[in-house]
Amino acid sequence: MLDICLPGTGGMLPLPERWLSCCWLEYQGKAVLIDCGEGTQIALRKAGCRIARLDTLLITHFHADHVAGLPGLLLTLGNQGKTDPLKIIGPRGLRAVVMALTSIAGGLPFPLEIVELYGSGGEYELGGMQIMYRMLSHGVPCLGYRISYHRKPIFNPEKAAALNIPKKFYSVLHSGQSVKLPDGRTIRPEQVLDGERAPICIAYITDSVYCESMIDLASGADLLICEGMYGDESMRDKMSEKGHMIFQDAARLAKKADARALWLTHFSPALRNPKEHLAAAQAIFLPTAVGYDGIRTILPRSGGDRPL
Ligand SMILES: [Zn+2]
Ligand SMILES: [Zn+2]
Repeated sequence: MLDICLPGTGGMLPLPERWLSCCWLEYQGKAVLIDCGEGTQIALRKAGCRIARLDTLLITHFHADHVAGLPGLLLTLGNQGKTDPLKIIGPRGLRAVVMALTSIAGGLPFPLEIVELYGSGGEYELGGMQIMYRMLSHGVPCLGYRISYHRKPIFNPEKAAALNIPKKFYSVLHSGQSVKLPDGRTIRPEQVLDGERAPICIAYITDSVYCESMIDLASGADLLICEGMYGDESMRDKMSEKGHMIFQDAARLAKKADARALWLTHFSPALRNPKEHLAAAQAIFLPTAVGYDGIRTILPRSGGDRPL
């Protein structure tokens, strides 16, 4: 089960009622955070995210609204007694940015592991999940991410029962290990498993004008989380000049990539009520939701429903 939350949904500046855009993904007791603008540790707390579980931080790019909250977040983690390493992954130049920001957050009780991602795209394996990254188009190096969480294969209790396997061995077999039973038989996982399950795929795309690499990221995603600075078509050219998309661009991307659902985020501070423009996006891609601070879902939904 993957817990997905947007603790903040704003772009450029934090507002009293809207924190800066970021994404929290929690899976098997460990959490990944994408982006860390000013005040993110407060946004996480307000959204009920368990900060102590943070294991990996992904950074999209080095604009302040995506990275300036790093010192405060690190100090908060230290204050909570974190001693395990924190992995920070981002575009080329990440090490210098982290060093500069941590010069005002010294004495951390845990080490930082910094991973710089090079080139126009690639993949990075991170225990139990695969991170695909692609360079976007924003005037500065900016990465979009696709995170695929591997799921355990399907366990078939009828097969296990037919083999008279005591229930206490089920979880070991489900995790892929053989077991030796008290009666001397050795049972292999494939004797009780029913095949692989598709991974859960989340795409996170902000800040950028539309580019083809977004299709790689969003293709068939269970959930596409994408920026939409405004919902008004008349703002497109102005936003495009600044390296951003509007709601309709994100909806067209979701449709073209055949994503299962879309959450809009990274709203302009001037956009006071993003929901006013939901219908314009839904006219292009129906399973669209306007994100808000604290929006949350758990995937997969029971019965395989869409994540909305
Ligand atoms: Zn931004
Ligand atoms: Zn930016």
